[in-house]
Amino acid sequence: MERIPIVIGCCALVLIASARSSAETLLPSRSPTEIVGSALSAEEETAAAYEAYAHQAEVESYAGIRSLFEALAFAERVHARNHERSMRRLGVTPPMTPRSVQANGSGENLRSAMLSEKEEWQRSYPQRIADAQRSAVWEPIRSMQRSRLSESKHYSLIRAVLEDPALWTMQHTYAVCTRCGYVREDLPKGACPVCEAAVDQFALIG
Ligand SMILES: [Zn+2]
Repeated sequence: MERIPIVIGCCALVLIASARSSAETLLPSRSPTEIVGSALSAEEETAAAYEAYAHQAEVESYAGIRSLFEALAFAERVHARNHERSMRRLGVTPPMTPRSVQANGSGENLRSAMLSEKEEWQRSYPQRIADAQRSAVWEPIRSMQRSRLSESKHYSLIRAVLEDPALWTMQHTYAVCTRCGYVREDLPKGACPVCEAAVDQFALIG
């Protein structure tokens, strides 16, 4: 008698596993335009937002926040350029979408940017990369993986400035990899840790 619930439980588990497997199999493939286009759109939007945030910080005399957002905007433009190249290699013309962004106060801009980077790093890029693998769209995977690693560093840099108001007014010159968009507080001693570009490929921004 006691075995019945166990058997039913096992059957239920098998059914759940089977349903999940079927659902994954049934997920439609996404086109290169959908996969890379979403990454390109997000990067362009973020770059435009950071340029607006840098301007707002300048207005508020927060040189530290201004220099951070200038460096990050530069990096997001590098990501966007790499995604554009992926689209062209896939035979897709990248869409031209002008952006208009409203900035808030600099403290709110930092918080908003930190959450945005966390979302891109932990959810959006892993989803796009999984979509590309499932849809056998291999071309953009490397640049999306590099962008994801870069966004995790952006998150750390924004968080450090947000949590220390003394940094808000302290201008800082950041080192940005012009190949992958990785941002550091200073020049690396060797190659870029994300894409292995030589140190002379870094631009000093801020
Ligand atoms: Zn790099």
